[in-house]
Amino acid sequence: MKISTRAVHHGKEPNELTGAVKPDICLSSTFKQHTPGDPVGDFEYSRSGNPTREALEQNIAGLERPEGADTECHGLAFSSGLGATTTILFALLSRDDHMLCSDDVYGGTFRLITGKDFRGFEKFGVACDYVDMADEESLAGKIRENTRLIWIESPTNPLLKMADIQSIATTYGSDGVIIAVDNTFMSPYFQRPLALGADIAVHSTTKYIGGHSDVVGGALVTKSRALHERIKHYQNALGATPAPFDCYMTMRGIDTLPVRMEKHQENAMKIAGFLEGHAGVAKVIYPGLASHPQHELAKKQMSGFGGMLAFYLKGGLPEARRFLENVRLFTLAESLGGTESLVEHPAIMTHASLTEESREALGISDTLIRLSVGIEDADDLIEDLDQALKA
Ligand SMILES: *Cc1c(COP(=O)(O)O)cnc(C)c1O
Repeated sequence: MKISTRAVHHGKEPNELTGAVKPDICLSSTFKQHTPGDPVGDFEYSRSGNPTREALEQNIAGLERPEGADTECHGLAFSSGLGATTTILFALLSRDDHMLCSDDVYGGTFRLITGKDFRGFEKFGVACDYVDMADEESLAGKIRENTRLIWIESPTNPLLKMADIQSIATTYGSDGVIIAVDNTFMSPYFQRPLALGADIAVHSTTKYIGGHSDVVGGALVTKSRALHERIKHYQNALGATPAPFDCYMTMRGIDTLPVRMEKHQENAMKIAGFLEGHAGVAKVIYPGLASHPQHELAKKQMSGFGGMLAFYLKGGLPEARRFLENVRLFTLAESLGGTESLVEHPAIMTHASLTEESREALGISDTLIRLSVGIEDADDLIEDLDQALKA
């Protein structure tokens, strides 16, 4: 079945006892056993496993499953995207191991690995090199004998650089080197990393998958059952598991993921075109624009271009502030992927945990603005941007 059908049905079959069409929210923290070690059903304790969470895990695994594949994929749900990331790093890395990571990776991922305020995994003896995954040549020299994980974000946040997932997975992936892709920006509707050869697809379900800015969560999907079991062990051991109600909310969002993504993209494309022709704008970055340096790769590995775009204003920080204080329909807030349009200033907001030098090296300047384009009317959104730019 196609993804729009799987979004609504996979893992969400009607309850055979009650006939309930939508998944039940099972709040019980513990489950009865007949005799020690012999539970009545499939569950013992809700951190280890819970019926509502299991439904969500199957639902998301159904979304990431490569079309036409005959093998099942395996999903795991977490209390946040970073909960998923933390669990993967703990499961796959030990002291003296090495990993590679996209250089303009999500700020929270960077903070977790080597961030300046607390050294995260670096303090446990894990080394990380940040590389520009858009330039595959730069990867070759960085791979070491002890490299265990390649963490790819594509497109990246906020600069929408892309990595050729298939090429990197083919060249560098192996049993010893796991390829994980943070697929938050595209969602499984527009990009399927597992179909491109990656081992793990990771999500902040807080974003497009939940889609309504009302629940924080994370998830990952693997093709390999062995890898699934390895990470599932750490899911239970670390305990960053989601509440049943949050699982329900996330599943509710997934029903409409395909229709939302189509609308996000349609609006983003119109806005990108509008901004590109605006006198107050120095440069627009959107994978759907022919001016994007990796537009061809975007067309090859994604089935759409998503709802995220970034642009540089003309002027400096005062102009950026004036623009951000004058938007009315766009809300100035962190996060992305909800039905409502959001705007933010990466240098001061989402990417504050990077050092000033690395922000500068990446191009996260004071005039860079990031938009999460919602599903409102495109003309209303354009009118709002226009009046704020004029201000
Ligand atoms: C938000 C986000 C995360 C972290 O997810 P949380 O749910 O906030 O913990 C990771 N990666 C990307 C690309 C994100 O946008």
